[in-house]
Amino acid sequence: MGLKLFNTLSRSVQEFTPLDPAGKKVGIYCCGPTVYDFAHIGNWRTFVFGDLVRRTLEFKGYAVTHVMNITDVEDKIIKRVWETKTSLREFTGKYEAAFLEDLKTLNCLLPHHTPHATEHIPEIISLIEKLVRRGIAYKAADSSVYFSIEKYRGCGCTYGQLLKLNFDEMKAGERVKSDEYAKESVADFALWKARVPEDGDVFWPSPFGEGRPGWHIECSAMSMKVLSETFDLHLGGEDLIFPHHEDEIAQSEGATGKPFVKHWLHGAHLLVEGKKMSKSLGNFFTLRDLLAKGFNGREIRYSLLTAHYRETFNFTLEGLQGARAALARIDECLGKLREIANQPLTRPADTLSPPGGERDGARGASKLISDFTAALDDDLNISAAWGAVFEWVRETNRRLAENSLSAAEATAALTAWNKIDSVLGIGAPAEPEVPAELNALLEARQTARKAKDFKRSDAIRGELKAKGWVIEDTPKGPKLKKI
Ligand code: AMP
Ligand code: ZN
Repeated sequence: MGLKLFNTLSRSVQEFTPLDPAGKKVGIYCCGPTVYDFAHIGNWRTFVFGDLVRRTLEFKGYAVTHVMNITDVEDKIIKRVWETKTSLREFTGKYEAAFLEDLKTLNCLLPHHTPHATEHIPEIISLIEKLVRRGIAYKAADSSVYFSIEKYRGCGCTYGQLLKLNFDEMKAGERVKSDEYAKESVADFALWKARVPEDGDVFWPSPFGEGRPGWHIECSAMSMKVLSETFDLHLGGEDLIFPHHEDEIAQSEGATGKPFVKHWLHGAHLLVEGKKMSKSLGNFFTLRDLLAKGFNGREIRYSLLTAHYRETFNFTLEGLQGARAALARIDECLGKLREIANQPLTRPADTLSPPGGERDGARGASKLISDFTAALDDDLNISAAWGAVFEWVRETNRRLAENSLSAAEATAALTAWNKIDSVLGIGAPAEPEVPAELNALLEARQTARKAKDFKRSDAIRGELKAKGWVIEDTPKGPKLKKI
């Protein structure tokens, strides 16, 4: 069965087929973070959703090119740079580094390309020039360049492909300069914003005068540069449908005359305790806030992956506790399977070979994969996918309790688990990172041993133990393991 996904363009669930005539390559563009602060768990819901889409496509055998931009110049950033009196690069660099670290904590695969808006100014300018040449963009009295919705529509193009817009109220030539606005204020939007004093040092020269790009044109320029003028999948949170994505379509199709994106996917928002997150309500969490409360990336990832992407997800701390318990059930089952798989010759189940046992086990593993695949094929029905996982855990636990699982079956079960975990990405409990000073102690112990100073080497071993770490010899040399 093929993968079916809801397409915001058609407002319906559609069979997903790549543009690639060979049916193999797929290009995805996911609107990335605006690096003006630490990403909050609402943002993370959307980025984990993007990771799920990519992993699912790879699981289905597609060769995916995953692009996620870094928005490193836009209204909110400029305001903060101005307020904090830092340089643009210094300011955004800090939050970009934090973003990439958080991405790892949540075990999201690093996108293949992470283009920066500030590194694509020539591409952005050339896209705006194309629109000006086609008569769809114009320079206004404030020296900024705007996209003309009237001219665009006059070319037979549709503004309002992702949502219905009411043009009756709209006055031709009415303009909006800010990057974010509501659909009630649909108007010509800024492509290039002329330099103003509050921009500080953030401006570039251009044929239209000094200034900086609007947010929407950044994504059009970067996605088409890295993927192509038409590509398969574009995704983001539902709040980006208007104006950001609608404007991306208008700018791109207005410049190239070709369809921009085949399939648009939008993730619903995350609420906390049923309410929109806000600092004033005290229900605002960054990923780091949750880590400080003692939860780990695995638990948070699991939690963010429990609800269907088109349903609003109500995040609660109790829900995170539930995630911990669910993961413990999976881990316990996997741990037992590993034990059995590693002791092939001593298993009674091996020597006894229970009638049909082998086949039952293999059936269990292939049922897990087929149920899981069917659930994802159905517009990424993650609840049904978890349903398949926990049914398999239950059945495996039953077999484990009756001691009827052979080593070969345990190995087959683990192979099946690894396959589906390539999508879930919850893996085994993360090995805690070894602090740098302890690695330095380990090295000092090696040096002491080489010098046959066993007194010192034993003393270091004791010191490490007192800090909660033991030395384990591995084929790659000694390593530290948490006790
Ligand atoms: P930003 O960094 O503000 O550009 O947002 C990054 C991504 O997070 C975008 O795709 C937004 O749609 C998404 N987003 C923002 N708030 C939420 C939320 N509460 N729940 C889910 N996604 C969100
Ligand atoms: Zn974007």
